[in-house]
This record gives sequence, C-alpha cells and structure tokens, in this order.
Amino acid sequence: MEKLPPPDGSGSMPPHDPGLRKLYELACAVFRVVEKTHHIQDIAQWNHLKGDNIMMFKDAVKNAMLGLVVGDALGVPVEFCSREELERNPVNGMRANGTHGQPAGTWSDDSSMALCLMESLTKGVDYADMMARFLRWADKGYMTAHGEVFDMGIATRQALIRFAHGTSALECGGTGEYDNGNGSLMRILPVALYLHRTMGPDFPHMPEAYRIIHNASALTHAHPISLTACGLYCAAVNELLCGQTSVWGGIKAAKEFYRDQPEFAFHRNAFQRIEPDVLPSLPRSEIKSSGYVVHTLEAALWHLERHDSFRGCLLEAVNLGEDTDTVGAVAGGLAGLKYGDIPEDWLSVIARREEIADLCGAFSQTFEEG
Ligand SMILES: [Mg+2]
Repeated sequence: MEKLPPPDGSGSMPPHDPGLRKLYELACAVFRVVEKTHHIQDIAQWNHLKGDNIMMFKDAVKNAMLGLVVGDALGVPVEFCSREELERNPVNGMRANGTHGQPAGTWSDDSSMALCLMESLTKGVDYADMMARFLRWADKGYMTAHGEVFDMGIATRQALIRFAHGTSALECGGTGEYDNGNGSLMRILPVALYLHRTMGPDFPHMPEAYRIIHNASALTHAHPISLTACGLYCAAVNELLCGQTSVWGGIKAAKEFYRDQPEFAFHRNAFQRIEPDVLPSLPRSEIKSSGYVVHTLEAALWHLERHDSFRGCLLEAVNLGEDTDTVGAVAGGLAGLKYGDIPEDWLSVIARREEIADLCGAFSQTFEEG
C-alpha cells in the first residue's frame, strides 16, 4: 500500500492513487486547522503567562516597597533607643511620637530616598537624575511623609553638598572606611527590582548589574564595603523575586562575583558571617544594629531566616534597638517580598500610602510597556 507522506508538507510528493490523494488532502486540511489552533493556543498561553508575570511583578514591587516603608515607620519612633529599653517597652505596632515626635505611620529618609530612586528608574538609569531627586528631598522635603526632612545620614549630607556644589554624581560618595553607614543599603531595593525586570533573574551573575548597583550606592557611599553590601542585598532580593523562600542562593552568586574582583578582595572578611551555616545560628546577642552597613545587612538576613510572617520578623528586627528604622526598612523590603502579609493595621496608618502604591504601579507599568 502506498504510504501517505506527512501532511505537514515535509514529504516529497502527494500520493498518485485518487482515493489516497483525497484522503491525503483531507489530512492536510485537518493538520492545518490543528496547527493553527495550537499556534493560537501557544500565543494565548504566552500572553497569559506574560500577563501573570507582570501581575506577579506588580505585586512583588508593591510588597517590597511597602514592606520597606512599613519597616522604616515602625522604627522611626524608637530610633536610637537601646536594646535594653526596648526589652522593657517593646514595639508591638505603629507608634506615634517618640524619637522624632512624628505621627504614627511616618516614614523617614530610608523610604524617601528609595522612592526617589524608584521614581528615577522609571526613566532608566540616570545617576545625575537620582542625585537631583535626593537633593530635592533634602532641600525641599520632596517625597517625604509630611513635607519635612527629620532624618539624614552624615555621608548622605556630605555627598549632597558636593553635588550641590557641582561635583558629578558618581564622584560625590565618600570612599573612606568611616563612610560605611547603611545609607545606600537602605535605599537600594528599587535597583534590584529594576535589574530583575530589565536584565532578568540571572542578573546576580552579570558584571553590568553590579556596575549599576555600585554606582547607585556610590552616589553617597562609595567604599567597597558599602558597594558589596548593596550587591549582596540585591542578589537576595532577586532570589525572593524568583519565588525562592531562602535568599542564600542569591548571596552565594554575589559572593562568587566578588571573589573574582581584586578591588573587593581586601574587604571580603567583612562579610564572612553572612553564610548560611554561620549567620542563622548566631545568638541574637551577636546581631548588632548600629548604623554600620554590615551590621544592618546581617540583622535583616538573620531576622528573615527566623520568622514565618512579616509581623514577627519586623517586630523582632525593630526591637534590636539603635538604628531601628533602617534595620526595619532593610528587613522590611525582604520580608514584604518573602511573606507578602504586611498587616493591614500597620498599612492603614502609613502616610501617603496610596501615592506610594501608585508610584509602585507606575514603576511596574514602565516595564510592562517597555
Ligand atoms: Mg531613617
């Protein structure tokens, strides 16, 4: 019996037998209908997946940024309080007054600078634009909770003064050992969100991604320890954006990058406790909450490991004392992504909550259209 060639046109010639030929043509017609249907289904499935992906990214951006803002606001009233004071009178929700005399839900420089950075990134990577927005915040109270700047780090202030006097954006950050406060780590979160969306989930393996992270830090904090802390944090954020529940895969990728960079080798020891078999097993008394960038990163990662809810993670982190708002902000960005269960009673008092959510939406929308 004559064998029918495949109906997809890959065979040589249609059959000669008239009956078989008719059967063959019918098979070809059926094949074309099936192929077209599959094609349409593939496109529909792709669009559906792409849509889901965008929705997931939108939710992730909002959870991460609101997590940061809520963590900041939890810490603002007790900034500079000692651990012992907070053991006697622990934070258990949003408070008014305290250190800065602000209403409950007031966020500080951490959130203002992160929001400025996120807004700038909607226009792409422009370091002068980032610094111009930071300066507008410092000078005019732009992107503040209530129009007032009540909290600013020393290195940030010095960098902004240099920028205001004409120094180019990437030359403004301090490069000394004492310029390693947590002022760039506290605001770097939007850069991780941006890189995940524009360079993809493998960005912790890409030198170009670290160049952008380091430059965004170096606007105010240019020492290799600050740059590395931001790189590790962004890689941790990416891991959570990828749906992982542990950040250690990202930390490992970032550490591999820094291991091969001679300019960072000298400072590698600063991060030796940030290992999955070291940091999580340290007692709480070993976790510091000063303004040193490594302490802040350790505190955020340590608390993320130990809790299964945003509330539990943030309350314990803020109750470490001292630089409570920044530990809260850095832990809050991660915890918002990991748990996504930011308590509504905390969110409901956040100053300008809707505007923050709108800005997050605009940021996500930028990449949807791009
Ligand atoms: Mg602050």
